[in-house]
Amino acid sequence: MLNRRPADGFTIGTTRMTSAAEVAEHTEQAQVLYESGVWSGLSPRERGAVLLRLAALMARDAEMLAQFDSEDAGKPIQECRENDVPAAIESIRWFAEGIDKRTSAVSGIGADVLSFSEWEPFGVVAAILPWNYPLAMAAWKVGPALAVGNCLILKPAEMTPRSTMHLVALAEEAGVPVGVIRALPGRGDVVGEALSRDSRIGAISFTGSTATGRKVLTAAAESNLKRVSLEMGGKSAQILLDDALEYSDALIANMIDAAFLTSGQNCTAGSRILVAREILEPVVERFVRAAEALVVGDPSDHATDLGPVVSDAAADRILSAIREAVAAGARIETGGHELDRLPGGRYIPPTVLTDVPKDESILRTELFGPVVTVQPFDSIDEAIALANGSDFGLAASVWSKNIDRALGVARRLHVGLVSINSYSEGDMTVPFAGWKQSGFGGAEKSFVAFEQWSRRKSVWVQLHPESGDRLTTHD
Ligand code: ADP
Repeated sequence: MLNRRPADGFTIGTTRMTSAAEVAEHTEQAQVLYESGVWSGLSPRERGAVLLRLAALMARDAEMLAQFDSEDAGKPIQECRENDVPAAIESIRWFAEGIDKRTSAVSGIGADVLSFSEWEPFGVVAAILPWNYPLAMAAWKVGPALAVGNCLILKPAEMTPRSTMHLVALAEEAGVPVGVIRALPGRGDVVGEALSRDSRIGAISFTGSTATGRKVLTAAAESNLKRVSLEMGGKSAQILLDDALEYSDALIANMIDAAFLTSGQNCTAGSRILVAREILEPVVERFVRAAEALVVGDPSDHATDLGPVVSDAAADRILSAIREAVAAGARIETGGHELDRLPGGRYIPPTVLTDVPKDESILRTELFGPVVTVQPFDSIDEAIALANGSDFGLAASVWSKNIDRALGVARRLHVGLVSINSYSEGDMTVPFAGWKQSGFGGAEKSFVAFEQWSRRKSVWVQLHPESGDRLTTHD
């Protein structure tokens, strides 16, 4: 496949596409390697030490990794340098340091019984990656999957294989035995589908759209019922209570990040802004001013805030959704029209829509572009009803100086992650998992992520079986 960069459509290389038959061969080789114990037989501390070296090598090659993701996905280089790559390194470091701190439970049953549960790897596992945070999402999965002792097959998104391939090379340089981690670039409906369906794969983790996540789950259900975890789309609300402007500078800066990071091509993008009617006007006025100050252009320029959207298809879809909303009566406060930047790239500026009629599909569908809607509310109940009126349940932000009120709202939101007075999912200690059609099975980040990649085994040891009463257990 020819790889073209979103910035200007230039061909930047070719990717050899893996076939379904090759996926099967790789899976078989990985299984043999797993059973050899060359990786799974190391102690957690030994595996952690190798992964710490991987983190150090990623830091050595940070600029190259940033360039790969920026060029392949059209992401602003500044974001890759300052956010994605450091986050990826931190995640490998965190899981490397965490793995030998993990303990299991022992049940206190009685003098004649020792019962404990421990964690074992699955064997061969797989991860299907998105194009919007190629390295960072790979790292969320590579860290725990390898730390617990699995052999891992990575399937990068079609457009963004380079940082994944380099990560695998760095893992080998760090001392991960060759083949324990491998990357198979290729088409989703070939490689992704083959991995989801292969009965030798014990667990699969997917990040991408809800429609594709459903296919992964279906393939797993129709094959070996492998462990599936899905991190999918969102339509996240930013809820501004009537005192939110007391934090005005931080509020606007966070709203801008939530709305426009990676041109809104971000699963946690705060694409629905819900504002207490009392502060609607000043919020829109300040937010629009800040949005208009953002630099849209060549993603390789460090000053750029928004690069192109990822493809022609994405640009057409976003522009047509804006047109449809406007035809139904929505008002464009800023943006809304494509910009001429580099020929061959599709550049859409930050776009803010108000007065969107309440049944418009733009309020419900994930646009994955730099477009937000602003809706006023008259009561907290109305804000919560609006926020929860979505098939998605990934994230939300709540802004208020009154923590009692903000927390009260947070507790009523049907989402997996709420940020109060911020936009962020926090650091590696914070589990990340969507509700409703945003997430399924398991969570990423934190110690919980280890569970996604390992299975529990309970062991019951009857001591002195010849003496005393036998405890009965259920089957
Ligand atoms: P997008 O629509 O933004 O490209 P996808 O959810 O289709 O998002 O892509 C996320 C990942 O899923 C990519 O690596 C893609 O190749 C992969 N993928 C696409 N189709 C399938 C499929 N049928 N089965 C498994 N993975 C797939």
